[in-house]
Formats: sequence, C-alpha cells, structure tokens
Amino acid sequence: MTSPLAALPPVSAALPSATAALMNVGPKPPIVFVAGRGSRVVDDTGRSYLDFVQGWAVNTLGHAAPEMIDALTRQASTLINCSPTFYNTPQLSLAGKLAAASGLDRVFFANSGAEANEGAIKLARKWGGLHRDGAHEIITFWNGFHGRTLATMSASGKAQWDGLFEPRVPGFPKALLNDIASVERLISDKTVAVMLEPIQGEAGVVPAEDGFLRDLRALTRQNNMLLILDEVQTGMGRTGTMFGFQHAGITPDMVTLAKGLGGGVPISALLAAEAVSVFEPGDQGGTYGGNPLMTAVGEAIFDTVAAPGFLDHVAAAGAHLEQRLYEVAAQTVGGGAVRGRGLLLALDLGRDIGPAVVAAALKRGLLINSPRPHLLRFMPALNVTLAEVDEMAEGLTAALLDVLAAKA
Ligand SMILES: *Cc1c(COP(=O)(O)O)cnc(C)c1O
Repeated sequence: MTSPLAALPPVSAALPSATAALMNVGPKPPIVFVAGRGSRVVDDTGRSYLDFVQGWAVNTLGHAAPEMIDALTRQASTLINCSPTFYNTPQLSLAGKLAAASGLDRVFFANSGAEANEGAIKLARKWGGLHRDGAHEIITFWNGFHGRTLATMSASGKAQWDGLFEPRVPGFPKALLNDIASVERLISDKTVAVMLEPIQGEAGVVPAEDGFLRDLRALTRQNNMLLILDEVQTGMGRTGTMFGFQHAGITPDMVTLAKGLGGGVPISALLAAEAVSVFEPGDQGGTYGGNPLMTAVGEAIFDTVAAPGFLDHVAAAGAHLEQRLYEVAAQTVGGGAVRGRGLLLALDLGRDIGPAVVAAALKRGLLINSPRPHLLRFMPALNVTLAEVDEMAEGLTAALLDVLAAKA
C-alpha cells in the first residue's frame, strides 16, 4: 500500500510550523498519517506501520474495513441526516440489536463516550429524583476514566486532574476497585448508583474481578441503587464477549458504549433497563445522536462482531497475544506480568521504560501505547491475525532490546 500523497512533498516536512493553527493538547511525534488498511497505517512519506493502537481501541475491524466502507457509501448516498426529531431506519435496527444483545431494553444514541456517560449520570439522577427521594450521588472509583466533560471528569478518579477546571461537579465519592468494603463505606441515603469500567483502560488495563462485579450487583440491588457499567473501551467484543460484563454473568442497569461501536466513526450509546429509562421528552437530546450515517456503520460493526466465530477469534488472538507478551518479557526484561482480557491487554515491565519503548517501537514501525510509565497497552483490531501478533512481538522485542542497550 503506498501513500496517495507520495508524489507530493510530505506535509511532515513542514512540521512543526504546519501545526500552528492547532491547539496543543498533547505532544505528538512528527508523523502525518494519510492511509491505512487492516492492521497497517501509512504516513505521508510512504512508510508503513503495524498498528496496535488502532485509533485508541476504536478501529474494531482495522483501517478501511470493507464492511465499513460499504455501510458508509451505501448510507451516504441514501440518507445522511434527517434530524433527531424523526426516526430513521438504521437507528431503529441498531437500537433493537443492542438491546437484545445486552439484555437491556432502551437505547439513547450520542456521539462520544463522555457524552454517553454524561447521559448515564443524568438518567441516574433523574431516576433518583423519581424513585429514591432525590438520591443523586454516584460512587465511582480511583483511577477510573469516564471522559472529559465537566461531570465525567469529576466522575473519573485521575489524581492528575485534581484542581483542574474547578469547581468540580459534586456527587462522585470515590471507592477502591476490587474492594467491596470501600464501596459499602460510601453508601448513604444520597447514593443512587455505582459506576465503573469492567476493565479500567486508561488506568493501565486494571480488571474489576468477576466476583467484585457480582458483589456490586448484589450490593446495589440490596440498597435499591443502580449499577452503571462504562463499557466505552471494553464493549463490542474487545474482551472476547460482546460486553465485558458477560464474563461475570451479571446484567447491569445501564451500560455505555462508544469506541468500538463505530469502528472509527463517532457514535456512542447509553443502554438502560426499562424501569430505569425515565427520561421524559425534553430531558435529553443531541443534534447528531442516532443519525443514519453513523448508526448504519454501527450496525455493520455489530453484525460483523456478532457473526458466528468472530468472538472466538478475539479470544484466540487475545490468548496468543498474551502468551507472546510473556515470552517477550522473559527474553528482554527478565519477565513481566500481563493483565486484561481478549484484545485489551497490558504488559507490566516492572520499570518505568514504557515511553522509551513506545518511541523505540515507533522507530521500528510499530504503534503501541504506554498509559502508565511502567506498562505497555495493546489494543489491536479485533480481526488482527496471529501472524500480525507474531510480527508485533518481534518488533516489540527489538524495541525493548534497543531501550535496554541504550541504558546499559
Ligand atoms: C475513551 C473512554 C471514555 C471517553 O470517550 P470519548 O469518546 O473520548 O469521550 C470514557 N470511558 C472510557 C472507559 C473510555 O475508555
């Protein structure tokens, strides 16, 4: 695959001055991507990279997936937007499929993970107003991540955000993941819900144990509280089941989806049980939510992930990746720990060389990510091949050896 711009002078040659019109919200390497297919992405000099970041766990089927191109072009030439005040066909059918697959009843579509979570927070507060005498506090967790709106930042447990954009939105006391007593201690008359990720992604792939999720389900039922799962990162097959909560055999009262739902295009969803779906006309909305173009893509992704054998592949590829990561760690840093499930895995290196390894891997044409200095995160396309996993493991081994040699 060559870059469609290969004949032109690369834009990256004009960096950093070409970035002058962008707000700087984070450091970026001097690379400009122009094309992608499957697990490969190409920059404007024609260089190809093996992509195990995939738009931040977004590109469910990799780059330029034929299923997505087909849905996008078909729907773009049929109907792109008809306003949220009217029904449209793909919106109705995707809602039906998500409800049936999740065991929940009602769906509200939005455009980003933060917006879906914001909707969940609003719905919980509304339900608390109607059924729990105004209870409105939602217990969330240290190191959790729920997005970048004001409320979802407050719901998140990122210590780095302390003091940012004050005052915070009140009503989000923080418990410790996998510590049920820490949750019990925070429960009061004001508590309406508990909200968490089945695997804390941005925290460095820290799983909520299946037993902990079952304990939370029981605890929230006993106290007439809602259980809200943020499956923005874990949903849509990422962990080897359609939803992360299915590993624990529970059904939450609300689930939020985003990243993998659109396979790369912006769409998110809030799913809720019938008894919790208490929004009244005017309470909630959004201009782009549930538009035909994005829901048509969401349906194509859903159908592909739900097809026979697809999730078996995710589980098998995840098991292979896990084994290869243990081998890589043994051959380089003298062993490491692998965490996560399916194709959301992290390798704990036991030392703070994550960012250096990411940079060395990039030089070798491999995209990976380091959410915490001591670990690496892997979130390839769900249709990644075992050969691509092997190729990644080889590139990672070389990158680790580069870093260790530079330190020696
Ligand atoms: C990425 C993420 C979000 C935020 O999603 P955006 O689309 O960036 O708003 C929320 N929760 C979790 C668990 C995420 O991984």
